[in-house]
Amino acid sequence: MKWRNHLDIADAVAEALALPPQGREILRQASIEPDKHGERLLRFDRRGEPYLRWMRHHRPDDEVIEALAWKARRAFLEGRDDDAVWCMGKALHFLQDEYVSIGPLGRGHDSSEDSISELRLSRETVVSGVQGAKVSVNFMRECIQSVRPYRDPLMALNRAALFSGALAASVLRGKDPERGLKLEWIAARRRLRLVILPTTILLAIAAFVVSLMTNEILIALVALSALLAPFAYRRYWFLKEEMSWFDP
Ligand SMILES: [Zn+2]
Repeated sequence: MKWRNHLDIADAVAEALALPPQGREILRQASIEPDKHGERLLRFDRRGEPYLRWMRHHRPDDEVIEALAWKARRAFLEGRDDDAVWCMGKALHFLQDEYVSIGPLGRGHDSSEDSISELRLSRETVVSGVQGAKVSVNFMRECIQSVRPYRDPLMALNRAALFSGALAASVLRGKDPERGLKLEWIAARRRLRLVILPTTILLAIAAFVVSLMTNEILIALVALSALLAPFAYRRYWFLKEEMSWFDP
């Protein structure tokens, strides 16, 4: 995507999130930074030696965008707003580039980039992305994973604008979890301590005792309840992850 589009989206995101003038300028600069200086990733070779690899542009790894989103989130929670906006801007750049259709063997990329750059952005698209966003780690991941290139330039620009707004809002808003999430997390922790953990221990003891006997019905019963155990933990792990977005 061309700088003009990156900057247009940055302006719209800054406005929708009501960033101060300085924050807006940082977001604008960060949104074009990867095209100026590239982005290097720390990797390890077969012998375990670290090296810096230049990131493939226009096909960035999802993990890079997610890592930047996490960096931005931590900075935001710690009150380092400028750092947060800087990391977010770079994440948005890579996200937006991913919407540009590349075509076979990389051909067609420049032409689709050119036609996108002639389009004007509708700011309402960014605003609806911001309004539809959830402050949630799983929402942030869904935004990143849902990205795919579009051949139609208008579609590519609109999608990039919508999800840039959504991603930025899921990272740069809400320092405290919503009341509902907080209460459910407290309840889930209590349930784990008072019900799920003791049941698991009982099951383990039962499995041992039953293994000494040859009662097939009992063996089947114990095996069946052991199979259900992971489901009891699933919600707990989900909530734990959601809470990590507020206290990494
Ligand atoms: Zn780029």
